[in-house]
Amino acid sequence: MQTGKIGVTTENIFPVIKKFLYSDHEIFLRELVSNAVDATQKLRTLAGFGEFKGETGQLDVRVTIDREAGTLTVSDSGIGMDAADLDRYINQIAFSGAEEFLAKYKDSANNIIGHFGLGFYSAFMVARKVVVESLSYREGAEPVRWECDGSPEYTMGPGSRTTRGTDIILYIDDDNRQFLEQARVDALLRKYCRFLPVPVVSGKEEEWKDGKMQPTDRDKVVNATAPLWLRKPAELTDDDYLAFYRELYPGQDDPMFWIHLNVDYPFTLTGILFFPKLKDNFEVTKNRIQLYCNQVFVTDSVEGVVPEFMMLLQGVIDSPDIPLNVSRSYLQSDSAVKKISGYITKKVASRLSDLFAADRAAFEGKWDDIRIFIEYGMLTDEKFCEQAMKFLLLRDTAGRYFTLDEYRTLVEPAQTDRSGDTVYLYTTDPEAQHNYIEAATARGYDVLLMDGRLDSHFVGLLEQKLEKTRLVRVDSGSVDALIDKGDRKAVDLTPLQIGELTTVFRSQLPEVKKAQFMVEFEATGAASLPAMLTQNEFMGRMKAMAAMQPGMDFYADLPDSYNLVVNTEHPLVKRIAADASAALDASVKPLAERIDTDNAAISAVRAEAPDGKLTPDAEQRVAELEKSVADARAEQDKIVEAYAATQPVVRQLIDLALLQAGLLRGEALGSFVRRSVDLL
Ligand code: ADP
Repeated sequence: MQTGKIGVTTENIFPVIKKFLYSDHEIFLRELVSNAVDATQKLRTLAGFGEFKGETGQLDVRVTIDREAGTLTVSDSGIGMDAADLDRYINQIAFSGAEEFLAKYKDSANNIIGHFGLGFYSAFMVARKVVVESLSYREGAEPVRWECDGSPEYTMGPGSRTTRGTDIILYIDDDNRQFLEQARVDALLRKYCRFLPVPVVSGKEEEWKDGKMQPTDRDKVVNATAPLWLRKPAELTDDDYLAFYRELYPGQDDPMFWIHLNVDYPFTLTGILFFPKLKDNFEVTKNRIQLYCNQVFVTDSVEGVVPEFMMLLQGVIDSPDIPLNVSRSYLQSDSAVKKISGYITKKVASRLSDLFAADRAAFEGKWDDIRIFIEYGMLTDEKFCEQAMKFLLLRDTAGRYFTLDEYRTLVEPAQTDRSGDTVYLYTTDPEAQHNYIEAATARGYDVLLMDGRLDSHFVGLLEQKLEKTRLVRVDSGSVDALIDKGDRKAVDLTPLQIGELTTVFRSQLPEVKKAQFMVEFEATGAASLPAMLTQNEFMGRMKAMAAMQPGMDFYADLPDSYNLVVNTEHPLVKRIAADASAALDASVKPLAERIDTDNAAISAVRAEAPDGKLTPDAEQRVAELEKSVADARAEQDKIVEAYAATQPVVRQLIDLALLQAGLLRGEALGSFVRRSVDLL
């Protein structure tokens, strides 16, 4: 009988393993079953090489529970271990047998690359005692028994196994008795071992008999040993993929399409990624892709392993290059993982590009469902963005789809402004901005639909990527102002009139919560509306973005800023201007002149102090003049405001503009209705 200390430097490694090595105790089962599977695979490989000449027999892995004895046993008929193996592979922790095995069979055996770590010792997370009974495949090997109670001391001696292979017997501790429940164990096997390459048997099939479910004597195999992603795409039909999808994600709509990944250089990776119907809801972005390492389930939270936007996809990725037993932060910084991530991005982009090229109509049909994915990808991944520029579609308000090139060709002739920039008009809400869209289309312009969740960001991205192009929201100006072609008519009003009218309109603007207004004059023709509201584009975008992002409350809290654009060519406005002139000029003109003279005097005083420093006298003089200007302004305003209050038509025009922009509510709406009746 040999006794000894497990070869680790730290005295008490087990408490460490128990507490910190794995956050999830349940993964011990994954570790033990995958060791058993590895041992089985190795035997197959050896048999394939002719190094093992015996009968391989039935090669499955069995998980057995003995509730009375309080044990859970994982058994295999793999290569087994003799005393020397146990010494080397188990007693000397951190010495991984896989490494040696690999070195030997490097070129042809890469399907059994072991995962390095302390897998076996994870058993101590749930067991107070672990016994290994093993018989090596080597000719003349003696069975061996190894036992350890969780202290660094183990005992090793003759064993009782009569057939090749290994039993790992766990004496489950009191805290972990859940692992003696068949249902719990089955659920775990289903989670981690569902696609392992060797049949895993756990309990017996059950059958409905005599009014209840009863175990039969047929073994229950929990896994599918040849999962779809390992098979050749050419052999698979759409139905195969759909069936696989339904099995992975029961109860969900069928995916739109999928990508079968298969690469063996410079790393090995297989998998299938499904594109679910996304529409605009990407709430369920997490835990959609499952990560496997040699068919062993690793995790379904793939942050950092696949690019962020890929998390909108579903499916499986299987790569031996994904490290199994490491923390998430390590996973993210791992260079193999980075390469994988880049590869997947490329692959997804080229698949989308193929779909686009193969069947444009079908691609358009899917567009609304995948748009959010593509926009998300373009916004967050430079490389993807580059590739996606070729198959990105823009949709206009008429429901037509265009590539970027097509769209440029379409709008360039009519929508290029005087500085040579092509202006893409877009709407964020076709319902609310209906009138603006109508005005733009009447002018022969096209309007893009940008009403998606990410579009406020995406508009900015497009502007960045497209040369000599601006994106302008359709309600951010009058049709003439949206695309300034240098042929805009000047406003036919004197400065005095502009001053008067500005005050007339400004004084009649109602208070609207979280909104501020500026008054502007434009000559947009007798046929367009007398007054309309336009919204500041920059603020609009900022606020839309702020609404989606934490930490941008600054913009979210700012009021919306609108322009009240008054059309000086409309007969009603012309009349208002003429009436105001007649009523106000006599009293306002002298005040306006006083303001002009005072301002001129202020400039003159300042001009005499070349270095900008005024003498005390000059300073006093400026102060007096400034006060005089302010007084004149106040008086002017008082006169004009008193006049404006007697002009219901002004208020009526403003309210119509507010109404059209959806800003006329509550009290203001009520008085508008009353005033309308009065005016009628
Ligand atoms: P890893 O599997 O990461 O190498 P483990 O601690 O899980 O680390 O296992 C250490 C070594 O013990 C394995 O590499 C293997 O050589 C050996 N081993 C573990 N379980 C078995 C088994 N069921 N049959 C044969 N060898 C095994």
